[in-house]
Amino acid sequence: MEEKTFDDEVVNEPNMRDMVVKRMEERGVTLVEIAELTYNLQAKYIPELSRESCLEHVERVVTKREVQNAILTGLELDILAEKGNVSEPLRTMLMDDYGLYGVDEVLALAIVNVYGSIGFTNFGYIDKVKPGILKKLDLEGKEKGKCNTFLDDIVGAIAAAAASSIAHKFA
Ligand code: MG
Repeated sequence: MEEKTFDDEVVNEPNMRDMVVKRMEERGVTLVEIAELTYNLQAKYIPELSRESCLEHVERVVTKREVQNAILTGLELDILAEKGNVSEPLRTMLMDDYGLYGVDEVLALAIVNVYGSIGFTNFGYIDKVKPGILKKLDLEGKEKGKCNTFLDDIVGAIAAAAASSIAHKFA
């Protein structure tokens, strides 16, 4: 067993799940809305799937350390960009959600990665189609002074990872 350091204890606090859920809510996204994305990804394959079950899988995803770290990092960058605390040229890239930036998608892959390859397909799909809450985040991100550059990919990735978790369970 690995020796624990003080730093490990700080980041391993049981309230990390609550903290990341609260941060996402402050940015306008609830787990229920993410579960709705997951439901729409999987309901056509699993007729007996319930929204409650989707929410349980979303909950499972946000208890993973890598996922929590990706959420904290991405949301922080969106917030710092909005506050003007990111230097150029990065600030403009983040505020304008510059198409060739790409690091937002790469960070989100850390989330998708937790449940393997089905997650990648689902992530690509909802990133293109932008259903439900993703459409709202996309439009809101285009408003002046608002930055959802990392948030939309994080939300899509959590939904995709939960869909993947469900697919593994029912396979
Ligand atoms: Mg993005």
